[in-house]
Amino acid sequence: MKPPNRLLPNDAYDAELLASARPPGWKNPTPAPRYNLVVIGGGTAGLVTAVGAAGLGAKVALIEKSLMGGDCLNFGCVPSKALLRSARFYADLDEAPPFIGRELAPVEADFAAALTRMRRLRARIGRHDSAERLRGLGVDVFLGEGRFADRRSVEVEGARLEFQKAVVATGSRAATPSIEGIEEAGYLTNETVFDLTARPRRLLVIGGGPLGCELAQAFARLGCEVTIASQERYFLPGEERDAAEILADALRRDGIDVRLNTAVASVAKEGGEKRARLINYDQDETIAVDEILTGVGRAPNVEGLNLEAAGVRYDATNGVSVDDFLRTTNRRVYAAGDVALDRKYTHMADATARIVIQNALFLGRLRLSSLIVPWCTYTDPEIAHVGVYVEEARERGFPMKTFTVPMSEVDRAVLDGEEEGFVKIHVREGTDVILGATIVARHAGEMINEVSLAMVAGLGLRTLSRVIHSYPTQAEAIRKAGDAHGRTRLTPFWRALSRRWLAWSR
Ligand SMILES: Cc1cc2nc3c(=O)[nH]c(=O)nc-3n(C[C@H](O)[C@H](O)[C@H](O)COP(=O)(O)OP(=O)(O)OC[C@H]3O[C@@H](n4cnc5c(N)ncnc54)[C@H](O)[C@@H]3O)c2cc1C
Repeated sequence: MKPPNRLLPNDAYDAELLASARPPGWKNPTPAPRYNLVVIGGGTAGLVTAVGAAGLGAKVALIEKSLMGGDCLNFGCVPSKALLRSARFYADLDEAPPFIGRELAPVEADFAAALTRMRRLRARIGRHDSAERLRGLGVDVFLGEGRFADRRSVEVEGARLEFQKAVVATGSRAATPSIEGIEEAGYLTNETVFDLTARPRRLLVIGGGPLGCELAQAFARLGCEVTIASQERYFLPGEERDAAEILADALRRDGIDVRLNTAVASVAKEGGEKRARLINYDQDETIAVDEILTGVGRAPNVEGLNLEAAGVRYDATNGVSVDDFLRTTNRRVYAAGDVALDRKYTHMADATARIVIQNALFLGRLRLSSLIVPWCTYTDPEIAHVGVYVEEARERGFPMKTFTVPMSEVDRAVLDGEEEGFVKIHVREGTDVILGATIVARHAGEMINEVSLAMVAGLGLRTLSRVIHSYPTQAEAIRKAGDAHGRTRLTPFWRALSRRWLAWSR
């Protein structure tokens, strides 16, 4: 992790972000005699817990050792999505001729400008998570590293905070890649890649998960020569195979050198460049790049918290152990967000924070397992999912029927020139109960929310086909999947009956 109060290049936007995320000269408050809730970690999980609990009248302390806002704001969702937007702009320029009827003179991507735009927007969004704002909402904000002193108190910067309940919301960090020579050669992670101000000419991205794919595409579209290497056969392991194949094709079209089934065996620094040895079955090749970005998974932040003193069980791979109520092995201590979850997303950090408020402070019995959780990889096209996968249904042995609508059959997608992808909705066989969906489309992340809503509200696919969707919209694909389901209900018997009725009534 970088030092707590450092952002690069430390321009005016970084200074603005720091002023809210870690105000210079900040003085920690005098601790209250006892807190209803002490929250360790000021990322999404910690902020939502602290603000929600304080709003309900709890006496709350929040401890943050680095930057308020955590990964999502500073080194994750916000900067990555800002860059992806600039990158998409350049990709759209490349696609201009059919829209404007002529070739455009080549426009060179301005990498530095894209990064500056990102820093400007990140600073603006950061105001929302500021230490001052939290103080204004009645939260005692302590800047410093929190660690448990015992089962009922936490220490920070020499102060001792007694708690009725505590929440561990310390998040995760980039896992260290175990590749020979990589430490000596140097590499970027999500904590350092957004510090760049100049475009690396050649970039090797290691890892084919959401982070690797999103940033590989963003950097390629911003003018880098990108190679992406993943040991897996497909990108986004776990997603439907046809979705992953569309993504691989899209990345190739962006000029990315896609290396699947490929291990990075070693890295060495030679002169001004880094040489990476890539092994794919019996092919052994060394490529030269200027920078290496790793996205090989996340490690939970459990070190240094003295969790042993609090009687909280954890391990370095899976993080803090929680039950379905998000309670740890100390019944006064809960955990939320990346530090305790397999699904490491901001909306999961938010959702689990809401569970913790209810369960820790109000005798709630909300369960993690009751959540219906969508997610999305924000490449172009986006790949979004909710509920079960085909493979999972097969393994668990429940019969399922799938309704698929290619985006090329959706007028708005055709008009927008965004025909790539599909909407695929799974229902329990013989019913319209929605079990899951995968959407591959330019705005799949927006579209999946409709399916999630239906699942949360217990609405079936028949109801979705009855929902009037504005024409022309890409979300009509969801209604069309509902129509496809409706057609299967027209059995030969009903069709014959309908024919006879219509003949009779002529
Ligand atoms: C590049 C990238 C892109 C991403 N994009 C998306 C996306 O588009 N959508 C999405 O849903 N998710 C995305 N994520 C995941 C998302 O950022 C995380 O799931 C989310 O930030 C988790 O929130 P959290 O509060 O659990 O942890 P964090 O945001 O990591 O916050 C934990 C905080 O705890 C602090 N802390 C740690 N130890 C201590 C201690 N001992 N004392 C005090 N403070 C401590 C840390 O400094 C940190 O600020 C992305 C992640 C990355 C890396």
